[in-house]
Formats: sequence, structure tokens, C-alpha cells
Amino acid sequence: MTTEIYLDSNATSVVLPAALAAAIDAMAQRYGNPSSTHATGLKARAILDEARAGAVRLLGVGAGRLMFNSGATEGIQTSVLSALVSLRERRDAGAAIGTLLVYGATEHKAVPESLAHWNRLLGLNLTLYKLPVDQDGVHDLAALRALAPQAAMVCTMAANNETGVVSDLDGIAAVLADTGSAALWMVDCVQALGKLQLDLASTRIDYAPFSGHKLYAPKGVGMLYVRAGAPFTPLIMGGGQEGGQRSGTENMAGIAAFGAVLSALERGDTFRTSGELYGFRARLADSLRAALPGVVFNNPFDKALPTTLNFSVPGLSSRELMDVFDAAEVRVSAGSACSSAKATPSYVLDAMGLPLWRSAGAIRMSFGPLADEATIAAACARIERCGAALRASCLIPSARTAVPHDGLLQLGVEGACSWMVLDAASRSCIVIDPLPDHVARIEAYVRCQNYQVQAIVSTLPNAGRAMLIEALGRHFNRQLEVDQYGWPQNAGGVTLDNGARAAAIALGAQVLACVHCGAGDELRAYLLGTPQSQSLPAAAVRFAFSARPAWQALHAVSSAQTLLCPTRDELNQFCTIAEPVATLAADAQLNSNALSEFLQAHPDARLVDVREAYEFAATVAPLAALTALAAADGRAAISVPLSRLAEHASAWLQAEQTPLVFFCRSGNRSMKAAQCLRRLGYQQAYSLSGGLALAA
Ligand code: PLP
Repeated sequence: MTTEIYLDSNATSVVLPAALAAAIDAMAQRYGNPSSTHATGLKARAILDEARAGAVRLLGVGAGRLMFNSGATEGIQTSVLSALVSLRERRDAGAAIGTLLVYGATEHKAVPESLAHWNRLLGLNLTLYKLPVDQDGVHDLAALRALAPQAAMVCTMAANNETGVVSDLDGIAAVLADTGSAALWMVDCVQALGKLQLDLASTRIDYAPFSGHKLYAPKGVGMLYVRAGAPFTPLIMGGGQEGGQRSGTENMAGIAAFGAVLSALERGDTFRTSGELYGFRARLADSLRAALPGVVFNNPFDKALPTTLNFSVPGLSSRELMDVFDAAEVRVSAGSACSSAKATPSYVLDAMGLPLWRSAGAIRMSFGPLADEATIAAACARIERCGAALRASCLIPSARTAVPHDGLLQLGVEGACSWMVLDAASRSCIVIDPLPDHVARIEAYVRCQNYQVQAIVSTLPNAGRAMLIEALGRHFNRQLEVDQYGWPQNAGGVTLDNGARAAAIALGAQVLACVHCGAGDELRAYLLGTPQSQSLPAAAVRFAFSARPAWQALHAVSSAQTLLCPTRDELNQFCTIAEPVATLAADAQLNSNALSEFLQAHPDARLVDVREAYEFAATVAPLAALTALAAADGRAAISVPLSRLAEHASAWLQAEQTPLVFFCRSGNRSMKAAQCLRRLGYQQAYSLSGGLALAA
């Protein structure tokens, strides 16, 4: 049974049961070709005619054209091609057509990409011009007024997919009329269908593309409205289907399904009223405010569809928020394209002038007019669960002090990283090579754990520490006399394996010793281990922190078991050893079928969840297939986030090797963990390919 709560309806929607039934009927019973003139064909033709008639009534198509196609991207192509072909003909005939192709700054990428493509292919050489929007995401009508006399085509969506912001179509029409603009006007109506009243023929709109899969029809079906008298050029020529406007045998299952949705809209008995939808949004927003302190909404609620929320949370990346929601099985999307490294800011939020942290950290939560009370209530409970998980991990402020963490923490596991050495017993820690990007995170962590930072040290001289010191306030002793590496002048000392004395700071039972990496070399390294009386023998050095070039210099003072923790981790290795052993062999990847066999064959195998602690905490029980499998023979998954991998790897390497099966959401992080362990010489490390997403 799925416990998933789907709140990503602006990306795509589930299929309405009536639409599914209509699609099945179209495939199983009325499977004819609507162009055939026999009875089987006529039955199929009836589907097509009914669906079109419904759309014509619902959208107020009047004398305009309404054709079915594959979706909005195709509708946009057809509109742009139609407009640009006609513009070229008019220009060739000596008419002035204007010089600009104007499109709203927040349009779906399909719009500027199509404009650029057809402008180039048709050799029009018009200038693409991005119409600015204000801080609410609404088109700047004064700018449009200035541009309109030069505009050959204007493209302005009805409602935005990232923010739900509704355009002032009447205002745009008025500007075009006032300025006497002859521009052809396309309005992308994808997000408006079923949410805004449309009466197309009564407007000046020339082209209006729609998409089925955004409103409970399947993917691969859409519609295009073209105003009566607006220029039209078919995109696809062939057998003359759709009255010669769009050739190719029709996608009958898709059209039947879309027809069922349109008829439900027309009947008005299936979907929530807008009042109910506003109520749902208010409840989700209240839950977000309560669970995620400081949350800011990026879309103005009074100017947006009630079905879209777009928000950012100070100190949290969109990746972290996505991960925690996904663990809680709440499907949302990053408002921005989220690559594995850094999130690319959302161009929509950028266009609204939002600060980078908000446009790069945005999350979109969207539901459709089919949403029900129970789903919204369940979503609110899950949001609370996510908040609690993030609080327990010190990622958002919490009134209560969290359970103290111990050991090593690697921050910013992608590329650049900072390290923290934590000692729960003494509630103190040392920060190594803090990056400016991690200041807020370290500060939040230290405050939430109520730790005292004993030292902030770096492997290079004069690395910036001021920001972190400032942020830490009373959690760091500013009076401490330090050298240009942040190393305290009053540190004690230990004797290293090569007989040299090294300055050392005690942290609970362990020490952090400072090593100069060669004469004239500016690099420093730090060794962490438990001293024996006044010395730190090589075998006792568990970790060495340094920039890669310094590793050579550590041979004499560390052992083959010492984990080298790089202060820059572009290779995503987390930690390594002096002589790495192997990379991931093919047998290290297990798919979910192979996993059950593997677990049966290896009763001592352990399942290791490498998702971060907040994801582990937010995971809804029972964790479907995977834990069911593991729990069946008494095995529960243990949580070892990638940020804690170095700490655990060191312990695993000391103990007898038993199989470790790493898993995460998609198989990406677990693969890196298995790779790391194998490189360290731990051969029995495996990764569940496809992750929990495919196992469940
Ligand atoms: N326009 C908007 C506003 C959209 O949200 C989308 C879908 O992401 C599209 C166009 C493209 O639609 P389709 O997937 O039907 O090609």
C-alpha cells in the first residue's frame, strides 16, 4: 500500500478514474481508427467529436479552431510557427511587422526556445525580448506598453507553473488595444485549465495551448485553440487528420481521457470549489509555518492560483528540503533545477528579483482541484514530521537542545567540505577548514547542541575565520591567542611516531595534533587519535585532515589504517587511505530482486541507510519493501549518513568484515558509500541500485 502524498500536480497529475476508464474503453472497445468510415471507425470518431464539442463549449472556442495534439510543447510550436510564417509573408509583401518577439520573463522554457528556434529556421532575425515581471511575478504592463508598437508577437502565460501567479490578461489586452499593436498573442493556458474561467473567443488571444497531463488526463495529449482569423500553419502534414490541421492518427486513448476530464469540468460535480482550494492552501501554509520556522512564501497568495505554494526556508537548501519531504513520502519539487552539486536558481524567482538563497532554495508544493480533505490533513501531519526531523538534526532552530552528537561530521559532502570533530561528553568541538558557505550551518549546529568550539583551525594560513567567530558568539572563546592557522598558542603537546613533538589540543579522550607538512610548505595537517601517555603512535591516529598534496608528508606519523580526510573533496571520496585498494566492482550493485536473495544468503549482512539523519527520521513506517524484507529476519536498517561515513568507516575497518548493503533514495549516494568502503579495502560493501524509490 502506498503512503505517498502527491503534491506535485503542476508537474503532472494522477489520472482521473473516469479518464482512465475512458482511455481503457477507447483501447479495448472503441479501438477503431476515427478516419475509417465503417462502424468501428465511427464509434471512435464519436469519442473525438464528443471530446472536441466539450472543449469547445468549456473554453468558449466560438468560431475558432480547436485541435487535439500531443501536449502544450507541440501547441506552443504550432502557435509560434503559425505566427512567424505569417509575419514572414507579411514582411516579404512589404508590410511593417515590428522587430520584437516579446515573451514574459517567467514563461515555460518551451516558449523562448520555440521562438528562438523558428525565428532562426525561418530566417526572420527578429529580436527576442524578455518582458520583465514585478516582485509578485506579474507582467510589467508599462514595459509592455513601451514595447507593444514594435512587437510582432507577444507570449504571456495565463498562470505560472512555479508560482501559480495569474497574469492580468485583461490588462495585457488593453495595452495591446491602446497601443494599436498588431502583435499576434499567445497565452500558454496549461496551468489555467480547470482553475480559471476561460472564454477564449471573447478575447483578443490568438493562440492558447493546453496540456492534458496537468489536469488528470494522461501524458501525450493536449489541445490548441486558434482564434478565428488568426494565421495558422500546420506543424505536421500527412493524412489530414484534425481537419488537416494536425496530421497523424489521433491518440484516441489520450483524447478519450482528456474528454472525460473536460466533461467532468463542465458538469462541475467532480472538482473542489475554489473556496475549498483556498482553504487547503491556508492549511498547508499554516503547517509549513509551524514546522519550518522562518519559512517565506515566494508567491503572493492574493495573486496566485490557490493550488500552488512556493517557499524557501532560511539555512536549508532545496536539495535538503526535497530529501526530507521525499523521505516522508510527500512528493514536491525543487522550484529550481537541482543538480547533484549546487541548485541552479529558479529563473522564475530570479525574474521576480528574489534573493539568491530564496530562488536557489525554493520548493514548490502543488495540488489539483481533485485534492481532498484527508490528503491535506495527512500532508499537514507529514509536514510536521519533516519539521521534527529537521529540528532533531539541528538544521532548523529548536527550543530544546538536541541529543549531543559525537565523532566526525563532514559538512558539504559535494565537492568542498568542512569537518567538525565533536565530543559529546565534554560538549565541545573543533572545526577544521570552515567554508564561508557552511558558517550558518556550523553556527546552527553548535548552538543547537550547545557545544563550545575549542578551536577553528585551517590547513592553509590566513583562511577566513572572522565570519564564523562572529556567528558563534559565546560558543567560541574570542580571547584565545591563535596563530595564522587559528591554532591556539597555548596548546599542549604529544610525541609523534617519528619522534617529533607536535602541538595538540585535547578533546575529551582524544587529541588533535598539528603537523607542519615539510619545510617551506605552507600546508598543515591535523591528526586525530587517542594518545597513550604523552605520545600519539601512528597506529593510534584514526584520522588525518589535510589538503591532498600534504598526504605524502603524513606517512611517517600515521598508519595504513589512518583515514585521510580531504579538506576539499571534489572527487567525492569522503575519506581515503594512503594506498587505496579498489574501485567499485560490478558485483557491488544489487537490485531489489537480488537483495532478498543476498540477505538470505548472508544472515550477517547489515542494511545501512546512508541518507542524512533527518531523512531517516522523517521516513514513514513501515518502509515498504525494504525494511519489511530486513525485518522479516530481525534485521533493521542502521542509519549512517554520508556526512558521518568517515567516522563509521574507521570503526568498520577495525572490526571483522561483514557484508554491508548501503541504500539511499535513488542509489546514487549508496553507490558512493560502497565505492568509498571498497577503496578503503572493505570488500564486502554493496549498494542497492535504484534505491528505495525502486525497492518499494
Ligand atoms: N507550459 C507550462 C506552463 C507548463 O507548466 C508545461 C509543463 O511543464 C508546458 C508548457 C509543457 O507542457 P507539455 O508537457 O504538455 O509539453
